[in-house]
Amino acid sequence: MKLYNSLTRNKDEFAPQDNTVRMYTCGPTVYHFAHIGNLRTYIAEDVLEKYLRYSGYDVKRVMNITDVGHLTGDSDDGEDKMLLGAKREKKTVMEIAKFYEDAFFADCKELNIRKPDTVVPATSRIADFIEMITVLLEKGYAYTAGGNVYFDTSKLDEYYVFSKHNAEDLEVGVREGVGEDSNKRNKNDFALWFTKSKFDSQELKWDSPWGVGYPGWHIECSAISLKELGPHLDIHCGGIDNAFPHHTNEIAQSESYLGHHWCDLWFHVRHLNDETGKMSKSKGEFLTVSLLKEKGFDPMVYRYFCLMSHYRKVLVFSWSAMENAAVSYDKLVARIAQIAPDGEIDTEAYEKYDSKFREALDNDLNTSLAVTALYDVIKADINGATKLALIASFDKVLSLDLLAHAEKKRVPEQEPKELSGEEAEIEAMLAERTQAKKDKNWARADEIRNILKDRGIIVEDTPQGPKWKRI
Ligand code: AMP
Ligand code: ZN
Repeated sequence: MKLYNSLTRNKDEFAPQDNTVRMYTCGPTVYHFAHIGNLRTYIAEDVLEKYLRYSGYDVKRVMNITDVGHLTGDSDDGEDKMLLGAKREKKTVMEIAKFYEDAFFADCKELNIRKPDTVVPATSRIADFIEMITVLLEKGYAYTAGGNVYFDTSKLDEYYVFSKHNAEDLEVGVREGVGEDSNKRNKNDFALWFTKSKFDSQELKWDSPWGVGYPGWHIECSAISLKELGPHLDIHCGGIDNAFPHHTNEIAQSESYLGHHWCDLWFHVRHLNDETGKMSKSKGEFLTVSLLKEKGFDPMVYRYFCLMSHYRKVLVFSWSAMENAAVSYDKLVARIAQIAPDGEIDTEAYEKYDSKFREALDNDLNTSLAVTALYDVIKADINGATKLALIASFDKVLSLDLLAHAEKKRVPEQEPKELSGEEAEIEAMLAERTQAKKDKNWARADEIRNILKDRGIIVEDTPQGPKWKRI
């Protein structure tokens, strides 16, 4: 499988050290609902994880939850986003964190995004961050200034690992754009631990060798990843905005701490923009899964919309683009609904179409080509059993609920038939009996059964609920 690697700026052959892929994902900052841009990134990562499993790998995937330390500016400026959320809603930071973490995973569920096996809130790992910062200080990669601890980027041979920047940017001295933090020795130095800063109102603080304070954002991903996945990472994922400074700083810290190369492949997902430009949570009303549903879109349509574009291309959201996706998804499902499960699986045909699907995804996760491979199956001159087996298999990766939605289309909802006065009365008695059984009022349930029996009506309990017929 070839995957684009931001580190080498190349499509690299993916070659993990063994059959277990160690995969780390930057999780959400839980100060607000996730917007559908955030979720585009998690959909792409979900396809990647599922396709690795489809290809026979075990995947050990870890995600953090950012519930402290992420400031409104990614370079240690602005306010803590969690604190802003708490102020906005007049709640505590931990209340906000819990609420929006749950909301995030509820959105993921709607979009068939698998929850990683290990999910770690940053606030649960403060001791690990302190241990890592202590080692960085001991090794001379960090310094204290003005009460805070900073990473010293001038100690690295190469700091800008993802793109070529002007080397001058690393020079010592306060220069334009550094902001008010005159404690920093170099422009790109970043905070590992804050004790003194302008954030007096910081709600969550912990004791540390450098005083009571709180961690910087970048250290959490390095420390959680090292603890959960060990000193060698196969894939690290995130949205493209995380490449700099967040991931750049993660590499700086982790490799300085370990003394060796850390992560082989960096998987970055380009942004979803709205028609006015960047999508952001701070813009007031923003696009969420709930809003899509309110406007009548099945979350699967959004997943389909994302899969129809390549994860390394900017995707522009508009309501008309969603309508087109809805029409196209609906047609796809309707065509699948027409396939009858006839014949036996034809293994040769199965292998042929499965390898086309794999070929698409093996080429840097080309999901739209994988959907084309799905259409090829639908159109193919092969029997229904083979088609349905292939569709079920592809959907392990695509996760578009294709067969379940097709099944719903196949069985048209039954028109509620008109009931006569007596029939309506019987139905009402059965409903009362069902409720009596729920309330464990067995005497009343039996009584109703007997009244009906006396009227020549037999009640039968089926998995679909009670049914009645005349004797
Ligand atoms: P956050 O909750 O801000 O920490 O972001 C969660 C994830 O969403 C990160 O991987 C970001 O890089 C990613 N992300 C942020 N904005 C967008 C966007 N407009 N489109 C795609 N991914 C995004
Ligand atoms: Zn991260």
